[in-house]
Amino acid sequence: TVRVRFAPSPTGMFHVGGARSALQNWIYAQQHGGVFVLRIEDTDAARNRPEWTEGIISALDWIGIERGTYEGPHFQSSYAADHTAAATRLYGEGRAYYCDCKRDDVIARTGNQHTGYDGFCRDRALGPGEGRALRFRTPDRGETVVEDLVRGKPTFENRLLEDFVVARADGSPLFLLANVVDDLAMGITHVIRAEEHLPNTPKQQLLWEALGATPPVWAHVPVIVNEKRQKLSKRRDKVALETYRDEGYLAAAMRNYLMLLGWAPSGDREIVPWSVIEQEYRIEDVNHASAFFDVKKLRAFNGDYIRALAPDEFAAVCAPWLQGTDTIPAPPWAPAAFDTHVFAQVAPLAQTRIAVLSEIVEYVDFLFLDEPARDEASWAKAMKGEAAEILDATVAAFEALPDWSAEPLKAALEEVGLARELKLGKTQAPVRVAVTGRSVGLPLFESIEVLGRERTLARLRAARA
Ligand code: GLU
Repeated sequence: TVRVRFAPSPTGMFHVGGARSALQNWIYAQQHGGVFVLRIEDTDAARNRPEWTEGIISALDWIGIERGTYEGPHFQSSYAADHTAAATRLYGEGRAYYCDCKRDDVIARTGNQHTGYDGFCRDRALGPGEGRALRFRTPDRGETVVEDLVRGKPTFENRLLEDFVVARADGSPLFLLANVVDDLAMGITHVIRAEEHLPNTPKQQLLWEALGATPPVWAHVPVIVNEKRQKLSKRRDKVALETYRDEGYLAAAMRNYLMLLGWAPSGDREIVPWSVIEQEYRIEDVNHASAFFDVKKLRAFNGDYIRALAPDEFAAVCAPWLQGTDTIPAPPWAPAAFDTHVFAQVAPLAQTRIAVLSEIVEYVDFLFLDEPARDEASWAKAMKGEAAEILDATVAAFEALPDWSAEPLKAALEEVGLARELKLGKTQAPVRVAVTGRSVGLPLFESIEVLGRERTLARLRAARA
């Protein structure tokens, strides 16, 4: 059976590139009736923190790889005995040797920082000991051909592969070894991961062979890049899946978008049900060029997903921003001020306008705050010229209205404008700012209808004061 794994190191927020790799592995397992294994590579004690492990698990959960539906998490740290045994075996069989060279000695001998290890200790027959690392003896001749579902058959000349360190002087394994030993122990058949690991692959394949096992099938997927075609980086780009989640990207939109990086479903469609992606996605078809992670496009995509929700689904997904959670700040209004029925009246209007869920707050806050949140720039722009006059006339016109609903409210304001030869837009501006605090928002008359006579009139008067 196919066994794939996702093997993140718990060293920080969950990178969107990691989410993409996880999904690719997940889909591969689904398509082949295989098993998806989560392995936490937690052996870098200095950089790992347990809370990041929980972060990985809950981020996977959010993106659709749910707890309890996969094998694991396994922890690399609990395979320490296997790592040691593998190192011992490599040494015992002459496939690895101890080396006490210091980096500076190597550079002094080779005169070059970049050529790597020169093999000085290859035939010194050093035993284990203080300050001695264990190096793998790479073959001098021949080549290593990697079977790669995405890249074809990348071929590496063995003489160009340096004798790399597999275990430190204290016996602890390095990534190249630990990663292989774990894959072997876990019966991994396919390694689907980011292309940045391709240079490691010939070395790892040699380790598989040296440990008497058949290497897995590899699939190295081109990385995702920003608009400058730089690899997405923590410092420069918004890369944490959690950030997108907390801004109000829908998991369905996010995972669909991640799969569209370097791949497209059949037909002219971009937005397709997940089941179609699970069926049609072929890791072999992923484009060889790095894929642009276009946040603007993701936003637009998310908006489409939001608009496709049924009203009750929309209300449900908005709830965290309307109430606050552990990771999402509470809205600016008092909890008691929130009213589901009032929200339901304007929700359809907001649903067509927002691209990410967190934006819901500023569209509806005027309904739940005692006084509207005042956007100073909007205010300064709208409250000049004839604004005062318009507001006074509007108060008078609205007060006289027998029927407080959008149509007559609009007609009344049109009248106010007509008397001054103003277009509706001009007349609306100060009214909108007085009532909602901002110059952009939901359709004005529906908003005023829902806000109600008393509060609307009070706000219009307050704006005049
Ligand atoms: N822990 C490694 C990483 O996060 C795993 C690489 C692999 O998938 O083999 O990059």
